[in-house]
Amino acid sequence: MGDDATRCRPGAFARAWAKAVSGTSYLPMAQAQLEEMLQRLTERLAQALRAEPFDLRIGQQVGAELVQAHIASAEGLGRTVEVIQLRLVRDLDLVVDDVEDRMARLLATVATGYARALRDRTLDEQESIRRAAMMARAQAERALRDSEARFRHQATHDPLTGLPNRTLFTERLTDAITAPGRGADRVGVCFLDLDRFKVVNDSLGHQVGDSLLVTVAQRLHRALGEHLVARLGGDEFVILVERTAGTDDAVKVAEAALAAVREPALVDGHELTVSASIGIVERPVAGTSPMDLMRAADSTLHWAKAAGGARWSLFDADRNRRELARYALSAAIPAALDRGEFYLDYQPLTSLRDGRVLGMEALVRWRHPELGVLRPDSFIPLAEETGLIVRLGSWVLAEACREAGTWPGPDGDAPFVSVNLAVRQLHRTDLVTEVRGVLGRTGLPPHRLQLEITESTMMSTVVEPVRALRVLGDLGVRVAIDDFGTGYCNLAYLRDLPVDELKVAGEFVTGLRAPGSGTDERILASLVSLAHALDLTVTAEGVETADQADRLRAIGCDAGQGWHFGRPGPAAPHLGRVPAHVDAAP
Ligand code: C2E
Ligand code: CA
Repeated sequence: MGDDATRCRPGAFARAWAKAVSGTSYLPMAQAQLEEMLQRLTERLAQALRAEPFDLRIGQQVGAELVQAHIASAEGLGRTVEVIQLRLVRDLDLVVDDVEDRMARLLATVATGYARALRDRTLDEQESIRRAAMMARAQAERALRDSEARFRHQATHDPLTGLPNRTLFTERLTDAITAPGRGADRVGVCFLDLDRFKVVNDSLGHQVGDSLLVTVAQRLHRALGEHLVARLGGDEFVILVERTAGTDDAVKVAEAALAAVREPALVDGHELTVSASIGIVERPVAGTSPMDLMRAADSTLHWAKAAGGARWSLFDADRNRRELARYALSAAIPAALDRGEFYLDYQPLTSLRDGRVLGMEALVRWRHPELGVLRPDSFIPLAEETGLIVRLGSWVLAEACREAGTWPGPDGDAPFVSVNLAVRQLHRTDLVTEVRGVLGRTGLPPHRLQLEITESTMMSTVVEPVRALRVLGDLGVRVAIDDFGTGYCNLAYLRDLPVDELKVAGEFVTGLRAPGSGTDERILASLVSLAHALDLTVTAEGVETADQADRLRAIGCDAGQGWHFGRPGPAAPHLGRVPAHVDAAP
């Protein structure tokens, strides 16, 4: 075999080979690249044919390389074998001994290399497919787990503060109550609410409010780390105190929470000092439910608020029962009105000058079918809270005016009727219309109606209600400040208000001692003269003795009201009566 053998037209053979295999499988290379590669393989084939002794590795390598180059189909192999067999020797002008024998062996080695490479590749592919499938599954499972965890986290946490939310809290509380064992036979809940948070929100904006909530949440979490702290919404937080040994354990947690909240906080450049109120319930888990516990904690929180805030209160079953009864009572007001269970007692406001009955205060009573006659203190405060006072108050106003219209007196000079007005009534936009309507229907002259507004109501009253009072004042309706002296009203403030009369609180009268000796007496004296300077008449409330009446008259008080002059009762006996002891006084 000559040295120049390979110099003969390997290019032509490679081109023929390329043509034969192209189209037998997808080739990721250009035609030129393919030819170049096949040309290299052609030279290797020529080398194999000539090698002495015959080297079967070369043919196998060529087969393997074909597979690597993606000429990897049965057809591709068939055409390759064919083209080698038919053209290799001829195209390259090869001179080889035993050419047929060598050619047969060469083709066999190429086919073997090819088959092995193909098998390896298939195994590799299968393996990598298997591995990829495994990885994909693992990845999918991880993603699912992650998103489940994320979803669960979102569903159980508050987005603003990151604290557990009501759902998670309820789950944990339910577990604490119902999961047996773990030595947990008592549990505590501290229900916390920030005091006056609305003021922060309203005056500094919701953003500052939100930042404050986040700060509070972080502090509670830090201070009470081991206990579950959750945000229920708004400015309400709740702390679960598990496995308590007694109330002390829950109280300690509440105190730590109050201390954590109390620290001044720098929020968006504002230094804020907030306080919180906490309702604490701590009890055996047996016989309670999450709902019971939360309801009790909520009521207890309101006790802490009502006591002024910045404190904790401990649940008290007796007090709770009393309050529930009070609520039930106030809820029954509308039906009782429909059934006509309310009536009015009257108490005279008596002139200290001549003993004449100047007016009569209407005091509402409830003839309760089961509880007997109820005094207003047992249902009015709650009716004011719940708003039911508005309907009840309307009834009182109408009934008082109706009755007063029947009182005898010379030329409309019968006593006026004095009606207590709750703050809610004063804030109604249709107060003027209502009063006008009642006066119109009953024919009562406006100057025979007096409206009593407590000092604290007056002080908390904004522009609109004052305007309404002014309109009523212009109509001729009298306005009195009730319980004067118990609040913070000052006379200078009253000067600008449409007021006719001060009703001085009974406390002042109780304090009256020997003539000229008591501080109360001097205070009262100057109050009376100031009131007179402002053109206001003064009625003293709670006058129980003749001695008090004498002293009040000496001070210059215009009128008195109290047991000494007459107890609350039906109007008739008070009318036209001139008590002898007043008459007799100098
Ligand atoms: P108030 O306006 O201060 O009414 C006077 C209260 O003092 C009455 O209690 C009266 O019975 C009591 N009282 C009268 N004289 C004496 C006395 O000499 N000594 C003592 N210690 N007490 C005396 P009452 O009738 O229980 O009314 C309590 C409160 O309920 C009233 O206080 C008033 O604020 C409110 N109220 C009564 N009726 C109505 C109403 O129709 N509407 C509204 N909004 N409140 C009402
Ligand atoms: Ca009154």
